[in-house]
Amino acid sequence: MTSTELTFAVGFAYMESEQTENFCWVLEKLKELFVKKDMCPQVILTDRDLALMKAIEVVFPNSINLLCRFHINKNVGAKCKQHVVNDLQKTIDTLWMEVVWASDEVEYGQRLHQLEQACVDYSGFINYVKDTWLTPHRHRFVGAWINRVLHLGNTTTNRVESAHWKLKQMLGNSIGDMVKCWEAMNNNLRLQLGNIRASFQKSFYEVEHAHVSPFNGYLCGSVSRAALRRIAEELLRVDYVGTNRKICGCTLRTSYGLPCACELGRYRVGGIPIPIDAVHVHWRKL
Ligand SMILES: [Zn+2]
Repeated sequence: MTSTELTFAVGFAYMESEQTENFCWVLEKLKELFVKKDMCPQVILTDRDLALMKAIEVVFPNSINLLCRFHINKNVGAKCKQHVVNDLQKTIDTLWMEVVWASDEVEYGQRLHQLEQACVDYSGFINYVKDTWLTPHRHRFVGAWINRVLHLGNTTTNRVESAHWKLKQMLGNSIGDMVKCWEAMNNNLRLQLGNIRASFQKSFYEVEHAHVSPFNGYLCGSVSRAALRRIAEELLRVDYVGTNRKICGCTLRTSYGLPCACELGRYRVGGIPIPIDAVHVHWRKL
């Protein structure tokens, strides 16, 4: 992902089948693309494909493998429809979403308890939810855990899927012809690059009055508009949060590498402008 929040592809792979050893080969090839050999992706987001997850554990043992929330919610929703009577489906779905969004472990425990109580008559459903998702994988998709991970807002694989969909459109019915496929991929990458360049230009030159804040003058030209927008949003929390880390939760710092409300509050209290380094280190790297 770029600092302007666009996605780009670094590689495409043809696979004979989707088994762990095939995935390992693909990931090994991906690993070779990293210029610094000791640098590995901090976060890898996938679906619950056990063969792929196993391969990630082997090739990138230090990376955190998050799971796509969108797919999990879709599966849980379908199971809910199967097991739960009509009138209760919406309530249970809402309670489930509250579990997923729980921002700390205490809240997670409370939300889960509420869900369990609502599901006393639906042991099939609640067992599925716990055995398939919460017990083995909660640290891969529940807010309480993933808010501590630098995922830059990527909690679903939807971005990659829409990029893949575009590529498939370009491939049309030319599947099987290597040259045509290569051309489609190349065109796809050129298009991505064009969009990314345009987004950098726009980010650099366009004046957006919505972002006028005490820090704007210091950060403009060094920090992307997308990051400024997130900081501007976070500034709205400063009055409420003050400098209290507990109230803050510090998600913007841990998930985006940007200063969170309690940090911004500290700078404001001291009347010191926020140092650029505190903001754009991650963005420049990415
Ligand atoms: Zn904070």
